[in-house]
Amino acid sequence: MTLWIDEDKVFRLIRERKPKGIVVNAPGGLLRQTRTLIEKIEAEYGIPCFLVGDSCFGICDTMDDDVTKLGADLALHIGHNAVVEEIGEFTHLIDAKDDVKFDAIIEKSIPTFKQYKRIGLATFSQHLDELEPAKRQLEAAGLEVYLGRKNNLLFESQTFGCDFSTIYPMSKEVDAFCYLGESEFHAVGVALATGKPTYLLDPYLDEIRDMKEEAEIRRKRSILAVYNALDARVFGVVTGLKEGQKMLGRSRWISKRLEMNGRKVVQLAMRDITPDRLAPFRDIEAFVQTACPRISIDGFTFDRPVLSIPQADALVGLMEGRGMGEFLERPKWIELTTGLIPKSR
Ligand code: SF4
Repeated sequence: MTLWIDEDKVFRLIRERKPKGIVVNAPGGLLRQTRTLIEKIEAEYGIPCFLVGDSCFGICDTMDDDVTKLGADLALHIGHNAVVEEIGEFTHLIDAKDDVKFDAIIEKSIPTFKQYKRIGLATFSQHLDELEPAKRQLEAAGLEVYLGRKNNLLFESQTFGCDFSTIYPMSKEVDAFCYLGESEFHAVGVALATGKPTYLLDPYLDEIRDMKEEAEIRRKRSILAVYNALDARVFGVVTGLKEGQKMLGRSRWISKRLEMNGRKVVQLAMRDITPDRLAPFRDIEAFVQTACPRISIDGFTFDRPVLSIPQADALVGLMEGRGMGEFLERPKWIELTTGLIPKSR
């Protein structure tokens, strides 16, 4: 397998924009390739590059606001391929792809999918090129296979950890989802957001994994956190400081609803929302964080309820007598602000 970064685009941008400095950030799995790319830029063009050491989990982790602070005038955000090509004033998205093939694991999965009739396909950024071959192979085995619609942020059938808007509309039409790729994080999100049986096809471990159990653990914990938060009198409402996660409008709305329902609210702002960062706020009994929903849905180590936006909606529903419903089953768990200034391809 080779992880491939679109270096041609990087060198083209450098020739066009002639930057004096470049800020680069990439997810952990691409750091080795990113360092090689930086060495090539410095050797060939003599331009200083800053590799950002902070976490880079998603397209929300762009560094546009920090570019000028570092004396730079170009930012490369690597590996979160999207329809959006540019974000903010300086940032360009640089695609990364994985050339691993799925033929063998798809062949192995056919008996599993034969128990269903209509299959929805989904994947994450690095495996988008495998969707069409996978569709053909499953169809040749007699299955009805559907792809999700491209939109203003995501390519067809692409999902992020908080955005399932390409495939959600077909969740009523299909019987199960087939998720291409090794990322349980992404596949479990699909299972939760669609409520459908979802199978992860991992070409590296040559495994088909049913996401049912993992999804159920997260769903139950998410519900429990909402009920635990119902008793809290003092809430911390945390607005994320990461560029793509600043949900000020949602923070204001949730704060207002909590206050209308007799709760005291303390407004907080944080870049990283972790048990350590929340620990000093001992008087706060529960938190709502309007940044990355996966902090709450997958974060099992908080000592008090820390609700994501969908959970906060469920909490407000309970407080106001409407019930909570299937609050995780929705096309997006947050509206990434990354998509606000798109220059799309
Ligand atoms: S907010 Fe969305 S895109 Fe950003 S890290 Fe969380 S799941 Fe990923």
